Amino acid sequence: MNDETTNLSPLNAMAAHGHERVCYHVDEETGLRAIIAVHSTRLGNALGGCRRWHYEHENDALYDVLRLSEGMTWKAACAGLAMGGAKSVILLPENDAEMSRDRARAMGRFIDTLNGTYIGAEDVGVSPEFTDWMLETTDHVMGGTGEGQGGDPSPHTAMGVVYGMQASLRQLGRDQFAGLTVAIQGLGSVGTYLASLLHERGAELVVTDQNEAKVRYACETFDAKAVSPSEILSVECDVLAPCAMGAILDEHSIDSLRTKVICGAANNVLRDPDADARRLAKREILYAPDFIVNAGGLIHLAGLYLGHSLEQLKAMIERIEDTTMTVFEMASDHETTGHAALALARKRVAEGGVKEQINAG
Ligand code: NAD
Repeated sequence: MNDETTNLSPLNAMAAHGHERVCYHVDEETGLRAIIAVHSTRLGNALGGCRRWHYEHENDALYDVLRLSEGMTWKAACAGLAMGGAKSVILLPENDAEMSRDRARAMGRFIDTLNGTYIGAEDVGVSPEFTDWMLETTDHVMGGTGEGQGGDPSPHTAMGVVYGMQASLRQLGRDQFAGLTVAIQGLGSVGTYLASLLHERGAELVVTDQNEAKVRYACETFDAKAVSPSEILSVECDVLAPCAMGAILDEHSIDSLRTKVICGAANNVLRDPDADARRLAKREILYAPDFIVNAGGLIHLAGLYLGHSLEQLKAMIERIEDTTMTVFEMASDHETTGHAALALARKRVAEGGVKEQINAG
């Protein structure tokens, strides 16, 4: 969602991006304040993470959830899932607000009012335990600690990013990680699994995180070289994998990049999806679009919700490599890989036909 859209009123912003529904909720008893945004149910009900975050202004929360939910529509469509796009945010009064069971249960009740049109899951600030608590009051949540609920999606997301990187290497005429340097920004759940998978494949790693213990672990376990958070975007490398927060690539940071490829897990990594995709293309840096390569976790959770077998899900995650290649091939007709990915997603949604109702009450 670009700056132009954030100047619009909420209803006009929804209309501009095609959102179907935005629901606000205040639970008086627990103090929960939350928003659920359903962007599209054209391909099916919509699974998307629930983000717990302290926003400076209420409108920041609204525009975050509008932008994130739209991204989920494109991600699910390109992953070949019969799923729409939605997301939710819980507005925290301060950064380190306690994760309370009562508030999680209240969030579960809020999710339940949508009768399965929206299926919640983990996102930034939500732990597996919080997810389990939401599940106490609704069936429409995936993730958490239970096996049947899909558990932690991060290993699957990391595996999908590796497939996206494999496509990127093929595009550069390379076929293996050995001898290549991958820089990872953020060693959280996905970043650490990714480091492990790349180390196994022989890549040299350069890593950073704000948390020193996570950096130390990666250096000791995966023989990684550490740099400071302010250095990672200008490290000389073959692949840069953003695995922290979004909007890190803009007119300033793109100038300082010394990588051949951008391929990572972070959502909405381009501050301005249109202009920044062009800036990367101009610098001849291959951009593997985030919502294509970071779909592994969604495929795993949504696929289980839809009743697919683990074998089918593994094959769908593997397919991220082919989808990334398709996007690279389409780029010659769509200016950049970012524009090509969006064109592919829109085409799939437009062709989607009748919505598949799963578990809708
Ligand atoms: P996480 O919260 O576990 O990890 C994020 C890590 O980034 C933390 O260790 C944090 O300390 C670090 N970090 C934050 N800002 C930083 C900075 N400026 N410099 C260096 N390090 C910084 O999150 P995660 O689950 O690993 O997800 C990572 C990203 O991938 C997020 O943007 C998330 O939305 C996206 N994503 C995650 C999944 C998933 O399955 N978990 C799926 C799709 C997309």
